[in-house]
Amino acid sequence: MEILNYINGEWIKPDAKEYLDVINPATGAALAKAPLGSKADVAAAAKAAGAAFPAWRQTPVQDRVQYLFKLRDLLKANHDEIARIITDECGKTFGESKGEMVRAIENVEVACGMPHLMKGELVEDIAPGIDELMIRQPVGVCATIAPFNFPGMIAFWYLPYAIAAGNTYIVKPSEKVPMTMQFIFKLIEQVGFPKGVVNLVNGAKEVVDGILEHPAIRAITFVGSTNVAKYIYATAAAHGKRVQAQGGAKNPVIVLPDADMEMATKIVADSAFGCAGQRCLAVSFAVTVAEAHNTFTELICEAASTRVVGYGLDSGVQMGPVISAASKARVEQLIGLGVQEGAAIPVDGRGASVKGYEGGYFVRPTILADVPRGSEIAKTEIFGPVLSLMHVNTVEEAIELANSGQYGNQASLFTTSGNAARRFRYEVQAGNIGINIGVAAPMAFFPFSGWKDSFFGDMHGQSMDAVEFFTQKKVVVERWPKEWSRKF
Ligand code: NAD
Repeated sequence: MEILNYINGEWIKPDAKEYLDVINPATGAALAKAPLGSKADVAAAAKAAGAAFPAWRQTPVQDRVQYLFKLRDLLKANHDEIARIITDECGKTFGESKGEMVRAIENVEVACGMPHLMKGELVEDIAPGIDELMIRQPVGVCATIAPFNFPGMIAFWYLPYAIAAGNTYIVKPSEKVPMTMQFIFKLIEQVGFPKGVVNLVNGAKEVVDGILEHPAIRAITFVGSTNVAKYIYATAAAHGKRVQAQGGAKNPVIVLPDADMEMATKIVADSAFGCAGQRCLAVSFAVTVAEAHNTFTELICEAASTRVVGYGLDSGVQMGPVISAASKARVEQLIGLGVQEGAAIPVDGRGASVKGYEGGYFVRPTILADVPRGSEIAKTEIFGPVLSLMHVNTVEEAIELANSGQYGNQASLFTTSGNAARRFRYEVQAGNIGINIGVAAPMAFFPFSGWKDSFFGDMHGQSMDAVEFFTQKKVVVERWPKEWSRKF
């Protein structure tokens, strides 16, 4: 499959000197070649988006959202096909891929409310005959830089809001998974947006740098690892752009002795091992309190060792591979580091091979127990199907441990005590909190982001935050004295 850019309503060959193989991580088979495009590609997209902006901005908002209604219908009609592509290039199961697109579609639906969402405010008579009003105007050309682990969804945390509010757009998918957006842009082409309103540029660092530096691009959203997020945040700000950057995670779950243990184990296993642990909201270390320890450890080890691993399009498969050979090697090396640092390994997923898919990059679910506090393995984002277990005696210690890391994307608690739940909600330092929930992913009508080193910026993704991010406020004070009134 040839991966092209979509610029000014045309499919264009990227200006690439290098290509990366896009590999099905379950089979090891090459699916496509990802072009590593250039700053010239970004310049072409920015020019097209800049040229499209004045007319798009003047298109009435109720007409702009008609394009989104059509896009939503096309995404729904092609839901299975998109999910199949996601599974092939990213490795997650078909059900997980479908789930990802449910949230993408939901964001389009919420953004269809833009005629209401971007309404301004007016206060009359702040002094006699003087009124003050606030209006929201689009920012201009905006862009999203996406990671590999949600090839379809992430751009939709932003793009529908941006274009409904009158901006024009550039999407830069991860070079590891360019095929999903290639297909989604075929649907965007079918919608018939005016030329240049929505553009696709493929590539890696050079394209990202082109986006960060281009003077016509006014607002940038990024989702990916923390080091790159920091770079994006600092560089975009240095170029005077509006920017928000979502980073990595190391999400804790606390299990109290009064929790429904069967339920807690099932949900924690789904969170830790779903999408092969490659989810920014995946639980990655469990802190058991007092007598929760033995039962939870026994049940979670059982859940980890019985999970069905394989190719995500085969029925009955509960977990796919990690994204690449390099990622498998890194995850296995980190598991080894944990053991060297003193962790026990009651369930060891290293050296996995799945019958019929010997070329795939599988790591089976792994449990590291008695992980020492302050160890590298307790701090590092693994981004694989590995759950670390730690044990404390009190809720206070557990919350303190949950708050001790650099990240703050999600924290979960399993309990039947309202009091403990309230305390946890109040004290825990993370942007997304789950109470008896393992993946606390906000619906599209709530904002999405982490805290601490999981997020750099102010306004978040989705919902009213996205409306705020993609509009700039203008305040007008008007004087219309009565004595100027004329009779016509
Ligand atoms: P990544 O940071 O390697 O890549 C993300 C994007 O940045 C890609 O488009 C890539 O081309 C670009 N990029 C990579 N290195 C770059 C560099 N040096 N300079 C400029 N651009 C660069 O992330 P990934 O491996 O694709 O995704 C996994 C990471 O994303 C994990 O850390 C995960 O926690 C995080 N993530 C966070 C969220 C969130 O909402 N907080 C959501 C999904 C993923």
